[in-house]
Amino acid sequence: MIGTKVSKHVFLIRGENKGKYPFCNCLFIDDRLKCLIDSGAGASQMMRLNMEGIDYLINSHAHEDHTFLNALLRNARVCCHENDAVAIESTEELKKRYGPPNSEIYNLMDYFLEVLNFKPSRVDLRLRGNDEFSFGNVRLKVIHTPGHSIGHCCFLIDDGDTRLIHLSDIDLTSFGPWYGCLDCDVDMFIDSISKIIEIVEVMNINIATSSHNEVVTGKEEIKMRLKNYCNKIFDREREILKLLTTERSIDNLVGRGLIYSRFPEPKLAYMIFEKVMIEKHIERLLRKGLIKSIRS
Ligand SMILES: [Zn+2]
Repeated sequence: MIGTKVSKHVFLIRGENKGKYPFCNCLFIDDRLKCLIDSGAGASQMMRLNMEGIDYLINSHAHEDHTFLNALLRNARVCCHENDAVAIESTEELKKRYGPPNSEIYNLMDYFLEVLNFKPSRVDLRLRGNDEFSFGNVRLKVIHTPGHSIGHCCFLIDDGDTRLIHLSDIDLTSFGPWYGCLDCDVDMFIDSISKIIEIVEVMNINIATSSHNEVVTGKEEIKMRLKNYCNKIFDREREILKLLTTERSIDNLVGRGLIYSRFPEPKLAYMIFEKVMIEKHIERLLRKGLIKSIRS
């Protein structure tokens, strides 16, 4: 058996390094047609899954930790939301989502991609929200949840008597939501989490899997974890507003523990992610009229 059984036909494949970046958890649907959500769990797991014969590989979004082993699933049809497909097909497009061509972060992304021996992947099928798949017993519905990336998707999975939701990078970690790319958007992230909470309630979902965390069970527990996760955004916003009473530039807000309590290596890259995340908050605060202007 591959992975941990979540329901009759659905298995969670825990990523190496406990599913932490640069790896991710994947979801394997072992039905008449076989489907895998994301490929970043690790090379040995992907080679085993390739032996099973994967028919559909659905990438939840374009980030490298979810796609870098796509090539090992040789015969799968690769699917992704239409808004993220181009960043899976082209390394340049992926890097441009982190920063403009030849910016520091654009060049630093080569470091991350080289570690993964990253290669772009073809995309065979471009998805939209509410698209549905039937694999035999299991049905899967695509839920477009932009914010973390413009084409980020969650998946509602109906396995006969069990319904579950795969939250992808709405990952319920204590770090909270990540929005350090140019295509990220804080308001969209908040709306996407609200949409998922609504679906969990209405569809009576009792199992939630995600890309970098353990399985969460129980409808109320899932809703509470999603609300707490979303609240990290509001906590950060309150901190930013507090700091803005004395600081007048975004650069002065970086390294104050607003997002990262300490920067992992390469530090410069994580400082830039933090700066972009603060800029995303500033965009939202300007839209809401809570601040008037700020220097970068
Ligand atoms: Zn991601």
